[in-house]
Amino acid sequence: MATQSTALPQSFAPGTGSVFSNQTGFHALDSNVPGLSGVILDQLSMKDYGEYRAAVEGKTKGISFRNYKEMFQKMEETFKFCTGCSKLPRNLLATETLKRCVKCLNVYYCSKACQKDDWPSHKKACKKLRLVAIDRLVEWLMFTGDLPVPTETQWTQQASEVGNWEDWLAMQGGLAPRLEALLTSANMETLWSNAGRPRPDAADLRDSVWRVQSEFLSRVLTVGAAMQRFGLDPRVKPLTIHLAGASLNETMGARLTDYDELNRAFPGHQGVEVVLVGPELVEGPVIRPPLRAFGPKRRVYLSAYKGLYHQFWEELVETEEAARPDLVVGFHPGFHANQGLLEGWMPTLLLLRDYNIPAFFSMFSEAELQASLQILHQMEMNVLASGPNPFSSHKPEQVQSCPNKPLVYCNSTFLCYQGLLGLPS
Ligand SMILES: [Zn+2]
Ligand SMILES: [Zn+2]
Repeated sequence: MATQSTALPQSFAPGTGSVFSNQTGFHALDSNVPGLSGVILDQLSMKDYGEYRAAVEGKTKGISFRNYKEMFQKMEETFKFCTGCSKLPRNLLATETLKRCVKCLNVYYCSKACQKDDWPSHKKACKKLRLVAIDRLVEWLMFTGDLPVPTETQWTQQASEVGNWEDWLAMQGGLAPRLEALLTSANMETLWSNAGRPRPDAADLRDSVWRVQSEFLSRVLTVGAAMQRFGLDPRVKPLTIHLAGASLNETMGARLTDYDELNRAFPGHQGVEVVLVGPELVEGPVIRPPLRAFGPKRRVYLSAYKGLYHQFWEELVETEEAARPDLVVGFHPGFHANQGLLEGWMPTLLLLRDYNIPAFFSMFSEAELQASLQILHQMEMNVLASGPNPFSSHKPEQVQSCPNKPLVYCNSTFLCYQGLLGLPS
């Protein structure tokens, strides 16, 4: 049994379900539950956010736990506060203890009174929060390599015919048995013998492994859907796709094969390069320089640039050190969320507009989509389409410090734009 974990469990990553993974987001936890960011650092034996970032980014050795039990326990500690009054364990009176909601096994209360007062709000989220609590443990199987399980080696339908999950799943005869096999895998056993909570029944676990897998696939299938929208077919010519604002979520544990579903969608293609660009990229095999010329045929080549997108453009695209993109995709850019983020994104949004680059962004919810659209309309962007994304993740996400907030889903909505309003694109 391994006693070291060089990667932080994903559930330690702050702000799940919010748009942030940066410092602002980390400390934003405290506006809902004062002291919660400190609890996370304590559990990881870290002194400040800088140390946390360095570990997440793979610059330091990371943290080690004595055993799995301790790791899962420390993860759970970061969810321990009263959902009613936001009290942390250290602020409890001697007579109080935090008790978990027995229905969802996700949220805690310091007293019967707090639980009762919170119920009108919690009852709307409780059922789904039960799923979230299972998923955040099952997600560990992404780190052990059990998930994602392989998909079928070739699509039996034309990519243009595969418009949603239903179409995609219809081609995936072998997927369900592969997911099923995880239920009895060694790491699944390890997980539930150390998780400090009862093992869910088979049906619940089966659904959970699918939800976690769907989140992984949601990214590559969303890129495929964006290509379709703009009529880009890598069988006709090699393509360069930039993932602007790629963050922790896309790069922690990322592997060179993460976008290989595009090989299966477009057999015999001319080559696709996917360049991850963002200031928060995490060390790993995909962190290698973008190509100057087209990459190998029939393969997806992943590369990366650590920095803001407009810097990347000036430094490598303008100087022809990296290819101009045929498409730019951004997962949850979050530029609607606050002035600081908008300022960071503004040069990129304008650059994409002025160079007439096909751009596709995904959001966590309808509300985020509407707020983002409003900004793009003010900038006179030629918005071509927006709405629910047919390849939304199926895994619900909670805002860690506000568990009763409506749950959101990765890539659940999208918008795409190209060029300036009123000009032919
Ligand atoms: Zn309370
Ligand atoms: Zn509950």
